[in-house]
Amino acid sequence: MEIRQVAVPTETLAPVGSTNAYVVGREDAVLVDPAARTDELDRVVENRDVSHVLVTHAHPDHVGAFAHYAEVCNATVWARAGREHRFEDATGVVADSTFCDGTEIGGLDVMETPGHAPDHVALAADGAMLTGDVVVSSGSVVVGDDEGDVRAYLTSLRRLYARNPDRLYPGHGPVIENPRAEIERLLAHRLDREATILAAVRAGATTLDEVLDAAYDKDLSGVRDLARRTAAAHLDKLAVESKVDWDGERVRPTEEA
Ligand SMILES: [Zn+2]
Repeated sequence: MEIRQVAVPTETLAPVGSTNAYVVGREDAVLVDPAARTDELDRVVENRDVSHVLVTHAHPDHVGAFAHYAEVCNATVWARAGREHRFEDATGVVADSTFCDGTEIGGLDVMETPGHAPDHVALAADGAMLTGDVVVSSGSVVVGDDEGDVRAYLTSLRRLYARNPDRLYPGHGPVIENPRAEIERLLAHRLDREATILAAVRAGATTLDEVLDAAYDKDLSGVRDLARRTAAAHLDKLAVESKVDWDGERVRPTEEA
């Protein structure tokens, strides 16, 4: 199955300053994450019979030209079942059809991969997978407490690992040729971060800022807000697991800890 990656300029947190749109197949083709309009994406779309259009998740840096391409391709607009309102708010387009885990769209299989965003999906194309913002080729993925869910994210990474795809086509940055090594790196990064945060709480940090100061050795200027959301998402997980008591303001270790 032919997978065409087109990087389009977006305002995104990722270091690359672009989002990857994908067109998969030639007949009954699927357009994924048309985040901005470019001449190149126009050409790729014109040279194929695009029948379906969807996003991996409805974040602003993935939806910018969705309405435009849905219109010019006259394609079936797909949204995640149960998340239609979120989808419509983000894209300004009403879905024609909905998908869930296992739905087949133009030869792609949908796999639900929540964590970075609650509506996030990956798409399997033969042995390859389009992974949106679940796996990135450098740095780490944002899983913040506004809508991120660390437990769901770890489960999504493990499901991707078990599926053992031979290549990943991420939402930002170049194609990933060594999926399992990259997924292992992201899992290790999350678990390391969690361990340092739990250690900070056990050492007496009681507020988010104290946790940040104890758990991060790098200079956080410019990214402190992001780090706060990340740490809060980890504390949410540790609280569910009864390792800390955390009310959103103050945290302390649980008794048996
Ligand atoms: Zn995102």
